[in-house]
Amino acid sequence: MTTLSRPTVAVGELRAPGAPAPAGGIPLCVPEIRGNEWQYVHECLDTGWVSSVGAYVNRFERMLAETVGTSHAVATASGTAALHTALLVAGVEPDDEVLVSTLTFIAPANAVRYVGAWPVFMDAEPRYWQMDPQYVVDFLRRHCRRSGGVWRQRATGRRVRALLPVHVLGHPADMSSLVDVAREHELVVIEDASESLGASCHGMPVGKLGDIACFSFNGNKLLTTGGGGMLVTDDPAYAARARYLTTQAKDDPIEYVHGAVGYNYRLTNVQAAIGVAQLEQLDRYVEAKRRIADRYADAFDGIPGLCQMAEAPWARATFWMYTMLVNPVGFGRSSRDLLKLLDLQRIQARPLWQPLHRSPAHAGSPLADCPVADELYEAALSLPCSVGLSEADQQRVIAVVRAAAVDG
Ligand SMILES: *Cc1c(COP(=O)(O)O)cnc(C)c1O
Repeated sequence: MTTLSRPTVAVGELRAPGAPAPAGGIPLCVPEIRGNEWQYVHECLDTGWVSSVGAYVNRFERMLAETVGTSHAVATASGTAALHTALLVAGVEPDDEVLVSTLTFIAPANAVRYVGAWPVFMDAEPRYWQMDPQYVVDFLRRHCRRSGGVWRQRATGRRVRALLPVHVLGHPADMSSLVDVAREHELVVIEDASESLGASCHGMPVGKLGDIACFSFNGNKLLTTGGGGMLVTDDPAYAARARYLTTQAKDDPIEYVHGAVGYNYRLTNVQAAIGVAQLEQLDRYVEAKRRIADRYADAFDGIPGLCQMAEAPWARATFWMYTMLVNPVGFGRSSRDLLKLLDLQRIQARPLWQPLHRSPAHAGSPLADCPVADELYEAALSLPCSVGLSEADQQRVIAVVRAAAVDG
């Protein structure tokens, strides 16, 4: 067994700009590469199958489809590319609207803009921090109506075409309620499951609950291919269209005839080889994340002002990114003060993402009032939770948080 040297900073969008954890520090979340990655990559290099076709691409697609329980999977260059493709195959058109979680990494909202449509931001619910089904129901009932055979938002007159819930932080959104309201309003459901591979909702794996689902294999996700993504669906027409669009929409590979403006969105065989080796470890990764979450929850139980990440009775979460809420009234410090304190101890923590209804990048989207997401954003702090986090390192994190509370 070979081990790659481990980067000392968190990778992907969670890296604090210009502030990597110094040597000896504890990073937020780094990849775990201890399986068959070397062997499979070696095989790609030895055989010359390095590019965007190859046995590992097929195998990775088959394995992920099996894991999620869908009949089709199409590998993509990134999770964002999978989301863009999903919106295209779902028939989302320029000036349509798509209902998107406001409390999420920005990629799904950006993908909505790539197709010329507009994200309409939905608030989170306070218990599990996922898209609030009641907020969606209220929005559709109060602010939309069916006219000309489609659902439109009254204020903008635009067609509401799709619902895009994001399963954030390894916990599923309440999909049974969300799918019900989506069906009632004829919306296509696209799950952004980038952060929640391995989680389930009412016993069903995330990615199996909507019409199309997207995964990411960026460096900070539960499993990584360096960079990559996957689109899964049970609909053969969606799958075929996705495969077509992600491979430059080629009609005739000999004569280079293209039937549409396609994209170069394929995953390479080398990346897929890493993905296969990573996916072989999925159960072990999830167990490690859940063990880390249990230890934090036990250690912080009873500390005033700390609210631990919860798991819904209908859910099995992966606890991909361990996050807690810090209430300065009970704890004596704000989440951002605790962030600075941890940083002084070379422990990398991170707040959540600025809610997208506040994002300058989406200032052109319809105004939304999302008070729950605002509160969660202010209070949330993610703690080191790499799959390979040692118990000793975790105890160091716990000690610093505890001491901060006592001092506060
Ligand atoms: C990471 C992430 C993505 C984007 O994935 P990339 O592979 O980095 O393009 C999309 N949505 C969410 C919720 C994510 O966390």
